[in-house]
Amino acid sequence: MNYSKRIYHAAMYLRLSQEDGDVSNAKKAESNSISTQKAMIKQFLKDKDDIILVSERVDDGYTGSNFDRPQFQLMIEDIRRGVVDCVIVKDLSRFGREYIDSGNYLERIFPALGVRFIAITDNVDSINDQQNDLLISFKNLLNDSYCRDISIKIRSSLEAKRKDGKVVSSFLPYGYMKDPNDKYKAIIDEEAAMVVREIYKLKLNGMSINRIAIHLENKKIPSPYTYKRLKGLNFSNPFAKNDNCPWNPSTVRFILTNRIYVGDLIQGKITTPNHKVKKHYVKPENEWTVCKDNHEPIIGKREFDLVQRLLGMDTRTSPYEEVVYPLSGLVICPDCGLGMVKKNIPVAGREYHYYLCNTNKKTKKCSSHRIRQEKLESIVLKVIQTFIENILDIQRILKYLKDVPFQEIDIKEIEKKKELKIKELRRCKEHRNLLYEDLKDGTVSQEEYNELYESYNKRARNAEEMIRTYEHEIRDIIENRSDKFKWIDYFAEYQNIQELTRIAAIELIDKIIVHDKNKVEVVFNFDDMYQQLIYALEKQGEITGVDENGRIQLATGEFSDETKI
Ligand SMILES: [Zn+2]
Repeated sequence: MNYSKRIYHAAMYLRLSQEDGDVSNAKKAESNSISTQKAMIKQFLKDKDDIILVSERVDDGYTGSNFDRPQFQLMIEDIRRGVVDCVIVKDLSRFGREYIDSGNYLERIFPALGVRFIAITDNVDSINDQQNDLLISFKNLLNDSYCRDISIKIRSSLEAKRKDGKVVSSFLPYGYMKDPNDKYKAIIDEEAAMVVREIYKLKLNGMSINRIAIHLENKKIPSPYTYKRLKGLNFSNPFAKNDNCPWNPSTVRFILTNRIYVGDLIQGKITTPNHKVKKHYVKPENEWTVCKDNHEPIIGKREFDLVQRLLGMDTRTSPYEEVVYPLSGLVICPDCGLGMVKKNIPVAGREYHYYLCNTNKKTKKCSSHRIRQEKLESIVLKVIQTFIENILDIQRILKYLKDVPFQEIDIKEIEKKKELKIKELRRCKEHRNLLYEDLKDGTVSQEEYNELYESYNKRARNAEEMIRTYEHEIRDIIENRSDKFKWIDYFAEYQNIQELTRIAAIELIDKIIVHDKNKVEVVFNFDDMYQQLIYALEKQGEITGVDENGRIQLATGEFSDETKI
């Protein structure tokens, strides 16, 4: 025995993690199991008379992607204390799967501390001066991180393009195509866009998604898939079993819910976990890349929103019902809050249609609130007509006032709110300064100081934020960018309404609450805006009140005289 031979004091390091895929199949699990790792190291040490095993460190269930592992840290401590000067692992990946930190240990820390490093199956033993082996093995690890780097780089460049509103996918949804002069730009494909518009129109008129698909099939309109094929685009759809891929409800739904049609480009919805995994998954909505008003819209925003509302109601009402009634999904029971549903009740050979509380229909646990369908519809129509008369009056008043005094009222209101926030901000800053005095003379502890300081900071930041928001609002009003009164036009469009249609009901009504057949409450869309406006007009003295029929009463004056014919 060569007595000049240095004796190493070794720690065997064992690690196993589900996360790293160490146990993804039976064979792998066995070869990586703690007992196998241990047996291999013991076998290796059998004929090594220069190595004495002094410790065994096991991190079971810890990932190799970082070094935040308790037993690993204890081993490093042993090394620093000089108890251990040799580390043995089965393979490099037991030591670590993360390149940068692994490299730091193996290339810098261990050599500096004179630690011998052995990775059995990778044929690495730092004492043999097999720098090359270590480098080669290391390159494998590095290779992994290199792939990952590339994958991240490609991702981030795509991400940047998406944020710029550039189309990065190979195909655009039906209705759009790529600009022949700019492959990152979406332009309208008029032929398909016409069909998209038709689909929205059909939906707004109360047709179900199923019916729309059948309707398009009957009209022999090629489905988006067939259309792409006809246009000669190389497009494969795994669901298309043959060349003739008909319209189906899910295609229609996709078109009716895709924001691309209002001009928003939404990308980056789907991702793969990393470069190694080919599986796709849908990212949470707040991680999507959204570019609003990115390209020319095919569908108006309001139309789109109404369709979303209809789709939401379809699921609440009866999805199987072929015909949709004007008020389907809008009628609510005041007691249990559930929807009221239609029921046909035969009386003396004739069938009568009623709306009644769904809870009552199912379990009788609520009263019926029963009302005849025709009666409810005629009441609602009358209420709409009155409401629209009010709206037209208001529109005339606003024109007469030329919006200006309203702008002033609005600005004054906002200025008031802004002033309050400025005061609050000043107070927070004062308190914060006083706090330091309190700390110095011992009125508050350091801990209390920190806590209070942070809470004042938080309040100050909130106040600053609000001040900025108010300033924006004021600027918007001055530059007349606020489309505050746009909703009035939606109602004004129905000024000659003689019949209650589905589309009118959806556009105008939020909900209808039926207390009983003599008491029906209609809540219109934009109700809060309407109430605010009425309040402001009352304050201005333009309106004096509302009569028992719901008609607003105009003040007698220059304006009112002019309009009373
Ligand atoms: Zn009820």
